[in-house]
Amino acid sequence: MDVLIRAGRAVVDGRETAALVGVRDGRIALVETAPDLDALASGGGHLEADTVVELGPDEVLLPGLVDSHVHVNEPGRTEWEGFASATKAAAAGGVTTIIDMPLNSIPPTVTVAALEEKRAVARDQAFVDVGFWGGAVPGNVDDLAPLHSEGVFGFKCFLLHSGVDEFPHLEPDELELAMRETARLGALMIVHAEDGHAIDHAASPDGEEYTGFLHSRPRGAENLAIAQVIELARWTRARAHVLHLSSSDALPMIRSARADGVSLTVETCPHYLTFTAEEIPDGATQFKCCPPIRESENRELLWAGLADGSIDIVVTDHSPCTEDLKAFDSGDFGVAWGGIAGLQLGLAATWSGARRRGHSLVDVVRWMSEGPARQAGLATKGGIVVGHDADFAVFAPDDAFVVDVAKLHHKNPVSAYAGHALTGAVRQTWLHGIRLETDDDAQPQGRLLRRGEA
Ligand SMILES: [Zn+2]
Repeated sequence: MDVLIRAGRAVVDGRETAALVGVRDGRIALVETAPDLDALASGGGHLEADTVVELGPDEVLLPGLVDSHVHVNEPGRTEWEGFASATKAAAAGGVTTIIDMPLNSIPPTVTVAALEEKRAVARDQAFVDVGFWGGAVPGNVDDLAPLHSEGVFGFKCFLLHSGVDEFPHLEPDELELAMRETARLGALMIVHAEDGHAIDHAASPDGEEYTGFLHSRPRGAENLAIAQVIELARWTRARAHVLHLSSSDALPMIRSARADGVSLTVETCPHYLTFTAEEIPDGATQFKCCPPIRESENRELLWAGLADGSIDIVVTDHSPCTEDLKAFDSGDFGVAWGGIAGLQLGLAATWSGARRRGHSLVDVVRWMSEGPARQAGLATKGGIVVGHDADFAVFAPDDAFVVDVAKLHHKNPVSAYAGHALTGAVRQTWLHGIRLETDDDAQPQGRLLRRGEA
């Protein structure tokens, strides 16, 4: 073995157990489990390895996290975020695979040429593994098949203005056309589900009051769009995925669609599980995201949706920008860019809320590693399993800390989590059997992933 990890606590195969994990050539070559470390000692005694790692009694070995919702923004808006800074933030947060969203970079990933451009800039800057979503925009239905063959993990679309003009949204008939094509390809369609017409008729977001912004993105707009996605998935037999679910009102129709056999998965994000509208101060635009953070009663229903399996996964929707675009001087929610930078803190934030509600690390691994890997079709990620990539997070679940934005690796020191108390620290991150560093001398160890090949 190249590396042998002895962990008194590890999450393996849906339970917490002591484990001995051997790594050879970047892959997991051995997994032995036992009720405790002493029972493992005999089993591992005959093994030799170049490096032996003993986890502390306060540490748990987790499979590396997979974050399928990250906006890197490079090239084109590299001052917002870039591959080096985003993937360092990922590594520091125990995330070993990210899948990059097709928009906010220029060009957006809506053609093979644009995908090649992204890969060219990402290649030498990836501190973790990186895959790419393609985009479905008006008029590019013929680009979906070539993008699919070039290895994108699926296609993202919007049902209202995306926030950037170069990534226009689909009207319902265009969405149907795109979903007929993704169904034909067997590709996944992932949807920003808020209905543009409903938002057009809602209140104005302008001003410093958070309640004003909340009313400008009503639950009804989200519910309507999700209903539309469900019906189109039903008609076209396409596989659909609802991004960043915020409105808990939609949970019953999601359950009902699945009971009918509609192919539908759902994600939510750590910020919807952590913050509540009632607590957001006026003018605090670091909390602006779309769909918005809603009331505390809604947050508890999202947790219940995770508990009963209505929501499949938790991913960050890491969407940073420069400080000036948050309009902190005016605090105007109508003007500020919407997006929360949470890639490095997703695990700690989700675990902090999960443990308080009686969930285990096994649940968190299902939501943040195993589930996203399955959703993206990453066959060698998402579990401590023989043959999988040797990607791990060493997590200290009882370490409490207060978020200091200066310690976050993403490019601009703005985060809704600043000053927030969280529990759970990532002590080490391993990728392909290599322990990752995030200091200035660190060398990128990540690979670019293609659908079906990882
Ligand atoms: Zn997003």
